[in-house]
Amino acid sequence: MSLSHSKGDDPRSRLASEKVIAPWSDSPKRCALLYPSSYHVGMSSLGFQQIWRSILACENWTPLRAFNDADESGRPFAYELAREMPDVDALAFSIAYELEIAGMIEMLDRMKLEPLRRDRQPGDAPVIAGGPLTFSNPAPLLPFVDVLICGEGEGLIGEVLQRIEGASKHDFAKLLDGLDGVVVPGEGNPFMLPVAKADNRLLPARSAIVAEHTVLRKMFLIEPERGCSRQCSYCVMRRSTNGGMRPVAAQDMLDAVPPGVERVGLVGAAVTDHRDIVAIVNELADRGLQVGISSLRADRLKRPLLEALFAGGYRGITVALDGASPRLRRVIHRKTEDLHIERVAHEAKAIGFMKMKVYMVLGLPTESDEDLHILALELIELSKILPIDVGLCPLVPKRNTPLYCAPFIGVKESDRRLKLLRKLLKGRVNIRPVSSRWSWVESVLARGGVAVGEAVLRAHRAGGGFAAYRAAFSELGYFPDGRVGADHAPMGVDGGVAFGLHGAEQMLATNTAIKQLRKR
Ligand code: SF4
Repeated sequence: MSLSHSKGDDPRSRLASEKVIAPWSDSPKRCALLYPSSYHVGMSSLGFQQIWRSILACENWTPLRAFNDADESGRPFAYELAREMPDVDALAFSIAYELEIAGMIEMLDRMKLEPLRRDRQPGDAPVIAGGPLTFSNPAPLLPFVDVLICGEGEGLIGEVLQRIEGASKHDFAKLLDGLDGVVVPGEGNPFMLPVAKADNRLLPARSAIVAEHTVLRKMFLIEPERGCSRQCSYCVMRRSTNGGMRPVAAQDMLDAVPPGVERVGLVGAAVTDHRDIVAIVNELADRGLQVGISSLRADRLKRPLLEALFAGGYRGITVALDGASPRLRRVIHRKTEDLHIERVAHEAKAIGFMKMKVYMVLGLPTESDEDLHILALELIELSKILPIDVGLCPLVPKRNTPLYCAPFIGVKESDRRLKLLRKLLKGRVNIRPVSSRWSWVESVLARGGVAVGEAVLRAHRAGGGFAAYRAAFSELGYFPDGRVGADHAPMGVDGGVAFGLHGAEQMLATNTAIKQLRKR
């Protein structure tokens, strides 16, 4: 993967477009806060902004933001200083997902640091990493970092910086001992790394800076709830990860929206499950604000909420169906039925919405062509109500989910199913697929260990294209048809049956890919 592009201008224009909510001040100790993708993406990450606030609140320390933009070369641009990043006392990366590991390597190169920890000098600034990736499988990050913060990091980053300030790296393990969620790489790291849970008093997370050149343009982001109480078996945010949804009281959330913002984005794993979501959206719309929500659940999208969203400026509805057929959705514990989505489409149209986007996952365990026929019929029915776009991605099974032992269906098979679906839809529905090839790369990183992390470095040095990844991963026994290498998370023997996927067993008995896995 190569340097990513930000929409818009150069760093100085992006900086000039920012509206600062939490003023920055310098401190004796500086931590480069690095996002391994573009500014456009990074400044839309509420987690990244929350860590920025946490470092700023830490005595003696201040954050300097930088991004991995194609219009920069050499050392990254430090936004707080409006100049090239100086030498710093620590680096902290926020990594959202597996394919950003290559971006982290690029940024370490640009900071003139060796990417691999073992090649760095004792006096080099310590490298810390955290972010959404660490909820699932941070193992491939281990060769690159001095400290990992797994899970919710806002209550930990300040403590970590203060404990390691001025210390030798040899002492990090001792100094950080006892901090739940903090891992110092070394011998004896557990197979499953811990996931930290932040103190509820640190919620709601909210924007520190509102930026124009972002995915969520000029949006003040705020988190009305954290986590999710549902149990979709492919999802790292499910109830078992951190104990279910933690809602913020509606008034506390509304009070945290500052005057002067024009747009508010409600961000969280399950925002529409918040008990007071209709009142929250209505109150924000009454203040004249445009409102966006990151996660709409079709079963929760009743007419009052749809009307509130319309009043808040929404004109398109985005929902996730995920499983191709009702049977598959039961297998993965996804509680969305066709009747929910059909009702939403009818009501959305009556209110005045213009279109609907539906997210789908292809290649769930036991999926067959029959499921795709059922999906095509359902999508065609929906398209008779509203114009439909379908966002389609192959299942990337993740560690820390019940489906971690399911197979990735393979690049060719994924492309075959996509082709079949297109044929069945006869152009009635617009499909936007995620690349099967890069989904395979993601799937290797989602369950591999330290060796696949080092393979990313080799692939990156070899140009960073798909062929380079295929070559680097094949050395470890990973192939695009779904075969996995020796450092893969244990595959289990049953594609998820052992993890309570009711109804899957009969179908699994006939599934060739899983039969092969049983022989491993
Ligand atoms: S997919 Fe959505 S609804 Fe299901 S567990 Fe994850 S966050 Fe919750």
